[in-house]
Amino acid sequence: MTTEYNEFGQLTIRGHEVQSLVKDYGTPLIIYDEDHLVSMMDKYHSVFKHHQVPYSISYASKAFSSIQMIKLLKSRNMELDVVSIGELYTALQAGFPAQDIHFHGNNKTPYEIDYALKNGVRFFIIDALDEISLIDGLAEDLEEDDAVNVLIRINPSVEVNTHEYISTGQEDSKFGLSLSNGAAKKAIDLIKRSQHLNFKGIHYHLGSQLADSQPFINAISNVFAWLDQENIDIDILNMGGGYGVKYTEDDVRFPIETGFDDILNHLKKVLKQSNRNMPHLMIEPGRSITAEAAITVYEVGTIKDIPGVSKYISIDGGMSDHIRTPLYGADYEVIPVELNEDSTSLPSHVVGKLCESGDVIGKNKMLPEDIKRGDLLAVKTTGAYHYSMASNYNQMQKPAVIFVSDNGVRQVIKRQSLEQLIENDIR
Ligand SMILES: *Cc1c(COP(=O)(O)O)cnc(C)c1O
Repeated sequence: MTTEYNEFGQLTIRGHEVQSLVKDYGTPLIIYDEDHLVSMMDKYHSVFKHHQVPYSISYASKAFSSIQMIKLLKSRNMELDVVSIGELYTALQAGFPAQDIHFHGNNKTPYEIDYALKNGVRFFIIDALDEISLIDGLAEDLEEDDAVNVLIRINPSVEVNTHEYISTGQEDSKFGLSLSNGAAKKAIDLIKRSQHLNFKGIHYHLGSQLADSQPFINAISNVFAWLDQENIDIDILNMGGGYGVKYTEDDVRFPIETGFDDILNHLKKVLKQSNRNMPHLMIEPGRSITAEAAITVYEVGTIKDIPGVSKYISIDGGMSDHIRTPLYGADYEVIPVELNEDSTSLPSHVVGKLCESGDVIGKNKMLPEDIKRGDLLAVKTTGAYHYSMASNYNQMQKPAVIFVSDNGVRQVIKRQSLEQLIENDIR
């Protein structure tokens, strides 16, 4: 993302002064560099094109979804993962083609499945055995030649070095079907005996914030050993998402070009050994497309300096729009929007305004000693799992979201109004 201070010491994003964006749109404000979003989508395309393999890139909506985001994805030839009727509805309202939507989730309700089928979704990722007869039954009304393509989500039993809450590919998990206890094989047999389901292949998602290609390489080895042993053919291999991003200096960003070189070269070798053709490849990046594209800007309010103890800087948002730090201690960079070369920095805790001691945005952040009420702070790398995880706790209004680019500025989500906070309440 292009954030830098200009000659006046003002933070800019893609050349736009943050301070003047705040004058127009208020705080808290989530600002995306749209050109960065596009460049990430294009980067994934180019690495697969370079390897000349059949592929599709399916963006995981949950990272950040909105009408304009989905229109942007469509314009860049992306496909889409959804996990709920709400994500599906948003995609359809944005005009996203149903045939490019993939329905995920460990508990798709009959209502959701029926809604998806009626709206033209023909691609489901099966996550449990009982889902097979459920989808097959609900597909009863479809025309004979209008089958539902399915992948099964398996657990390739690959150890990944990430936070427990965001690790998913292991045996003991609410997600997926086990290779070792026979559930995955049973699922394939059931699908093949179903009326309306077409078995297309395998899906796995190893976890999130993965820094290198090793877990993906291990998964390929494990999965093809199993496919060979069970004598199963696949048309599609979906390797999931989880490509890591850089929140702070301590994080390692997944190297998209060289990482996929390693993964795809290993895959080619494994396919050759087991005498198979290249399947259609799918990946599902979420975080790596949106996280580093955005910052969130807050206004400073109360400052509490407890001498010899800590300095607390309160902002006008908090865990309602930034849950990842309270939830699992995620660390972020916090920077002033206006740089004053003469002022020294002090370690300060940046805290939200919600009624929880855990409502902390950053601990011991180096911030100007003379910071005062009305100053602006920017939290970097807030483009994924921020707006999508936002809540109305303390009846906080969800923030506004804008896209900036070389072409200008446009609002993509309005700030939630007070009236909207109570629109569903019976008076
Ligand atoms: C969350 C999720 C993704 C995206 O993960 P990121 O870490 O955001 O890239 C992809 N696939 C599945 C099945 C997921 O649950």
